[in-house]
Amino acid sequence: MSAPAYTIRSTDRLKELMGAYFQRLGSGAGKVAWCTSVGPAELLRSFGFEVYFPENHGALLGATRTAMDHIPEAVKCGYSGHVCSYTTSDIGAYLRNETPLRKHYGLEGIPKPDLIAYNTNQCREVEDWFTFFADAFKCPIVGIHPPRHLDEVSDDEVQLVVKQFKRMVPVCEQVSGRRFDEERFRETVRLSREATLLWQQVLRTSAADTPPLSFFDGTIHMGPIVVLRGTQEARDYYALLLEELQANVQAGRGFIPRVRSRIFWEGMPIWGRLRMLSDLFASNDAAVVASTYCSSWVFDRFDEHEPWESTARAYTEIFINRSEKAKMAMLTRWFEDYRIDGIVYHDSKTCFNNSNAKFGMPQRLRALSGVPALVVEGDLCDMRFFSDGQSTTRIETFLEQLAERESVR
Ligand code: SF4
Repeated sequence: MSAPAYTIRSTDRLKELMGAYFQRLGSGAGKVAWCTSVGPAELLRSFGFEVYFPENHGALLGATRTAMDHIPEAVKCGYSGHVCSYTTSDIGAYLRNETPLRKHYGLEGIPKPDLIAYNTNQCREVEDWFTFFADAFKCPIVGIHPPRHLDEVSDDEVQLVVKQFKRMVPVCEQVSGRRFDEERFRETVRLSREATLLWQQVLRTSAADTPPLSFFDGTIHMGPIVVLRGTQEARDYYALLLEELQANVQAGRGFIPRVRSRIFWEGMPIWGRLRMLSDLFASNDAAVVASTYCSSWVFDRFDEHEPWESTARAYTEIFINRSEKAKMAMLTRWFEDYRIDGIVYHDSKTCFNNSNAKFGMPQRLRALSGVPALVVEGDLCDMRFFSDGQSTTRIETFLEQLAERESVR
């Protein structure tokens, strides 16, 4: 009799949680703020806003493989088909009045913003993208522009970002109709910190010999740390998930029965091919145990005793916003933590910012760490830039080479 398929039971709770989140957004009961995924969500939430994340919508458009229907509509308006396919598919979907939120969560459409906030700590594209919607909905927009590509983030840079965060307060007060409440802000940061530290522990369970959470699982279970951080529900969800995954490690239950190689995924997910890639790695006994993407929502510097400085620092120190030197140091640490045998870089056609294979980093990092690398070309949403056949052959060859390397050690 074959072993039962590996499942994560907490997924049922995850579905309830995400469903309730979208119901709240769609109910029209509260004021809605749009925010970038690594933006100042805690500050917005402390004013009582329901917070909506267009990148999450972009990921849904990618995962449902509807993005390509919408991108041409944005191209007609002057947005290049070679810029961020979250941006172009999201704008195109709006222009065509379509959204997967209708079918999957029963919403009439995307939630209308009362306020839009963005942070260019990840890219400048979000400024263009969010400005389109501020114009379309004629609503106020505030932007945070932190220093970028630093080796180290100093107190001077943190103070600069704190000033920008504080400039949001009068706008939030005016739109929400509430006065800023420092205690509420601290409490939101505390909940966010607890959730993010639990999320970090969740990811680290896959350092085990029998890893219980793949990168592909992580892209699903990261939902609450993206859209619900700063809430009790998100915190409780990760406590539940952690307990289950730790029990699986104890019992020697992993997401694949035999692990021949341990892989690190660098760059954006290929949303339209998650299942295919997950099956491909698994069928080659390769466990994709860690990623820069899922680790991007670990904000371990959050501290409710210093809510302004700690959030400004955490959001400025994220991987995508750092110099190559800092990124290589972070990757080298992750390689050690997860005992990585090989790294797969996703060189995303339309996300220049979250692709690290364009300026020789794979070669330099291999020389530094000794970890072999493969670069796969593709895209987060636009599957015209991804070749199933070519990618499968390249990944299988790479995994075979890793296995041979292991066998002669
Ligand atoms: S980081 Fe990349 S995928 Fe994300 S919004 Fe910016 S360009 Fe788009």
